[in-house]
Amino acid sequence: MPMSHFDVIIRGAQVVTAEKIERADVGISGETIAAIQSEISGDAATEIAAEGLHIFPGVIDAHVHFNEPGRTNWEGIATGSNAVAAGGGTMFFDMPLNAHPPTLDAASFELKRAAAAQSSRVDFALWGGLTPTNLDTMAELAECGVIGFKAFMCNSGIDDFQSVDTRTLREGMKRAAALRLPVAVHAESDAMTSRLTQQAVAAGNTSVRDFLSCRPIAAELEAIQNAIELAGETGCSLHIVHVSCAAGVRIVAKAAARGQDVTCETCPHYLVLTDEDMERLGPVAKCAPPLRPLSEQAELWRELMAGRIQIVGSDHSPSPPGMKQGANFFQAWGGISGAQHLLPLLLTRDIDLSLAARVTSANVARRFRLPASKGNLSVGSDADLCLVDLQANDEITGAELQYRHRQSPYIGKRVSARVKQTFLRGRMIYYDSELVGIPSGRLVKPGAR
Ligand code: ZN
Repeated sequence: MPMSHFDVIIRGAQVVTAEKIERADVGISGETIAAIQSEISGDAATEIAAEGLHIFPGVIDAHVHFNEPGRTNWEGIATGSNAVAAGGGTMFFDMPLNAHPPTLDAASFELKRAAAAQSSRVDFALWGGLTPTNLDTMAELAECGVIGFKAFMCNSGIDDFQSVDTRTLREGMKRAAALRLPVAVHAESDAMTSRLTQQAVAAGNTSVRDFLSCRPIAAELEAIQNAIELAGETGCSLHIVHVSCAAGVRIVAKAAARGQDVTCETCPHYLVLTDEDMERLGPVAKCAPPLRPLSEQAELWRELMAGRIQIVGSDHSPSPPGMKQGANFFQAWGGISGAQHLLPLLLTRDIDLSLAARVTSANVARRFRLPASKGNLSVGSDADLCLVDLQANDEITGAELQYRHRQSPYIGKRVSARVKQTFLRGRMIYYDSELVGIPSGRLVKPGAR
């Protein structure tokens, strides 16, 4: 019997899948995982000794804002996707806003797709927007291959992307349901947050604490509840992005238990940073919903560990440093740079490794109906994976950040997981702190699954 020949064999690592962890060799042929066995007897052009390391499915970051085209000076796809690769990622979903034009029709989709096809180091999918101005272009966005539609239930913070009122959201959900695509919402009550913000700013109360009190958990819960009711009414598949509190997760879990198609996401910043960090670090740690107290974070971890949070996405949303300063906290740009450390930050906590693989990869692929070749480590799948050292003891430094602007609230944090190598469809794209090769990311569209 002839021995099989592979392009790459990774030997001796612990292979982490959504279901289990086992020590195995992984053989790659072309773009595909060709074998996972306890010992592969064949040979390969490239042999990687990986004893002591773990192999994870490549991170699929379902929530980033890379701001290209139009605001490439805020981040851009080249630097943003480099950061994803350095964090063990092989794919991102770019949000429709903060690029200009926002992704609201086929023409703007095509502009972003072309930019990403040229400069993305990892595969990518694109969100379309759902706003009062583009209900009639949702069908053409679906035709282009958007992963779903994103709507804001409160002010988006950017002028060219309007929030939805109830009527628009209901109508958009009806159309999304007909197009068989999910709607993702930023869920904070506009009535509550706008009123509180106006009062605070009018009174000259513009500190971090004032901002926190203008975006209470109650505002989140009210919006989540409303979105769930509308989605139920319209038969729309619903995804709540960046839930910051356990009570929000529980509302989603309850609706899902009743049979409704609803999921939720949280972000690393809600899992590792608190309101006190926001106060200490200032605008670099500004986000909405805001960071919560430590006791709330502990509850959120319990929800994650219990499997009630399906997805952890970074909500990477940077801006030029000049927009993240000043005494008036309300005026600073809200958005955290975190795409590079999503997986290391999760793995630094005592988390079940398969759970980490699910919330950063397998669940994302399934939830958004990516082709079956994405989001798992199995024979026949795309060889999208990363090698991680779980015995690391590193401090995150500004120097290692691949972002256009080396700012992040995670600088100075210690992590016990270090990404050593990342492979995209069988090709090494990141190796020991260095990006490798030329960008070759491709658009991925939702398919039958
Ligand atoms: Zn976002």
